[in-house]
Parts: sequence; C-alpha cells; structure tokens
Amino acid sequence: MIKVAINGYGTIGKRVADAVAAQKDMKVIGVSKTRPNAEAFVAKQRGYPLYIADLSKKAAFEKVGLSVAGSVEDMCKAADIIVDATPGDVGATNKPLYEKLGKKALWQGGEDHEIAGFSFNSSCNYKDAIGRQFVRVVSCNTTGLCRIIHAIDNEYGVAHVHAIMVRRGSDPGEIKKGPIDAIVLDPVSVPSHHGPDVLSVLPHISIVTMAMIVPTTMMHMHAIRITTKKEVSKERVIDLVKNHPRMGLIKKSAGIRSTAELKEFAMDLGRPRSDLYENCIFEDSIYANKTDLCFFQAIHQEADVVVENIDAIRAMMGGQKDGAASIKTTNDALGFTPIQNNH
Ligand code: NAD
Repeated sequence: MIKVAINGYGTIGKRVADAVAAQKDMKVIGVSKTRPNAEAFVAKQRGYPLYIADLSKKAAFEKVGLSVAGSVEDMCKAADIIVDATPGDVGATNKPLYEKLGKKALWQGGEDHEIAGFSFNSSCNYKDAIGRQFVRVVSCNTTGLCRIIHAIDNEYGVAHVHAIMVRRGSDPGEIKKGPIDAIVLDPVSVPSHHGPDVLSVLPHISIVTMAMIVPTTMMHMHAIRITTKKEVSKERVIDLVKNHPRMGLIKKSAGIRSTAELKEFAMDLGRPRSDLYENCIFEDSIYANKTDLCFFQAIHQEADVVVENIDAIRAMMGGQKDGAASIKTTNDALGFTPIQNNH
C-alpha cells in the first residue's frame, strides 16, 4: 500500500486525495491545510488526518472541532510520497523539506519544469517517470494538449501545431479573481507559455500557442490546428479519440455546443464534483483535409490533472511498469469511462 500525503488540500489537492483513496494500491495518510475552512471539514468527514503548515494555528482548528494530527513535516515523515498541491510557486518552497526527509514528491503545473527536472503526462512519458524522486505533473491545458498531440503524432506525425486557448478566469469557488467583464490577452505576446510547456513533455513538437482569459469558471476551450506529416482522415481521428482512455468524444447527438451544457451533462451523469477527467473533443468540429486537422476541445481545469497525479505516483513508486495498465487501474477505480460511452 503506497502511503500518500497531500500537501495543500485545495481545488486540486482535495480531488487527488479522493482519487488516491479510491485506488486499491494507495492510501491517504494525511492532508494539509493552512486555515480551518469548509474544505478542512470535508477532510474530516472523509476521514483524512489533518495536518497544518503552521502549528501555532492548532488552537484555531481545534476550537471549531477540527483535530490536528501534527505538522506538515510530521505528515511528510509518515508518507512514502507527497503530492504537493499548494498554490503555484509555494510548492517550490517545500522542496528543501522533501529533500531533507529523502521523500519522493510530485508538484503541479503551477511550478516550473526545473523544480523536478521532469514533466509528466501518463499517455506520453509514463515509463520515464518510473522510480524518480521528483516529478512535475503539467498544467491542465498542457495535459490536454499533450494527450491529443501525442496521439496524432503517433498516427500521422505532427509537422506543426497552432493552438488557441480560451481560458476560464477562475475556478468556481474563487470569489476574488476575474476578469468580470473583459477578454484578457494572456499574454499579449506570442507564444503563450503553453507551447513551451508542451515541449517539456514532447520536446520534438513544433508548436505555437496563443491564450486569452474570459469571464467564465467552468472550463477552458482550445481551438487547435495541426499540420500532419501524412494525410489525415476524420474517421480515423474519431477512432483515435474514442479508443483513448483519457479522451472523450462529444457526439453530435448530444447537442452540446458549450462548456455550460457539457458541465451540466457531467453533473447529470453523477460524475464526482461533475469532474471531466478527459479531453472533451467535439466530433462535429473535427475538420480533416489532406494534412490539415482542426477541432475544438474543452478541458476541465480542475479535473484532467487528477488522474495524471495517480499514474505519476504509481510510476514513481515503481510497482507498475506499464503506463497503459496504470491508466486503466486509475480509471477503473474511479468508475470513469470517457464521455462517448454515455451518449
Ligand atoms: P488552491 O489555492 O485551490 O489550493 C491550494 C491549497 O494549498 C489551499 O488549500 C491552501 O490553503 C493550501 N496552502 C497554501 N499554502 C500552503 C502551505 N505553505 N502549506 C500547505 N498548504 C498550503 O490551488 P489549486 O488550484 O489547487 O492549485 C494547486 C496547484 O495545482 C498549483 O500549482 C496550480 O497551478 C495547479 N493546477 C491548478 C489547476 C486549477 O484549475 N485549479 C489546474 C491544474 C493545475
């Protein structure tokens, strides 16, 4: 049983904790919070031991009925591996602790590639993560890009990718972020950081990305154009998406043409937290002409990296050498099958 600690029990951390708890080969030995809030009560309800970054705040937790198991350092000592899901750039400050304790750790996409020297995506480079001490799971957008680019590259060879990301302004629970009424270029200059980030996983790909932030919280939308090396067929691309364990096809029959309808569908399907772990590729948007391939894909920012974290844990702990087998184990434990199986 792999003993997993979740340092930072927020948007990503709480989802990773539940996904770890669902696996037969892993166990949550603790989660950490900086202050008592609703998420801390959820951790208590789930039975996850609660650790805190600053022990001087112990009384504030205990006053509201949240018992504290110890410090973050205590939690890390008890773990085989730590999932660092603290906010971007905070994770880097935790590295000396993990090094001091000689523990394995994985970070999220808010940290730079250099923090681990290795950026991970289950479908692309699982084998290269086996046995590593440190790994970074790439961001939600990069995860979505890597999955589809890798699949198209394997089939046709990719000559060039041009992707435009329309990004959500904040996660649903974040009340202090915007924009409220603007389309913000993210950044004005081209490329956005996403293209270079894809290269941290797929270094041979030629890619340019542009990004903008819009006033929505649900999901990101990508408009992607790929120039392939061989002639591309729409039917084959549909098959590739349908047969991929982390990609989903939004069929015409569903009548979905927005992130809002997609999230409503996920809620109605009873997905935990209405999470969409898969790239959601709109079947009707797939345009294939000679070596020109275009499509839209929606990415649920809070969810797609969660399943990647589980595979990264398994690879780093070295017990499962086969990436496809890990992906299947992770998906099965969550009762997850990509969305085309639901309509
Ligand atoms: P979040 O703010 O929702 O959660 C972070 C949690 O860490 C909070 O509970 C906070 O209290 C806690 N925390 C803060 N400082 C801490 C410390 N020093 N020690 C322990 N805990 C601490 O953040 P998030 O959205 O879950 O993001 C976490 C990481 O995941 C970031 O690197 C982010 O870039 C990445 N990520 C986020 C998303 C997303 O859409 N939210 C998607 C993919 C990747």
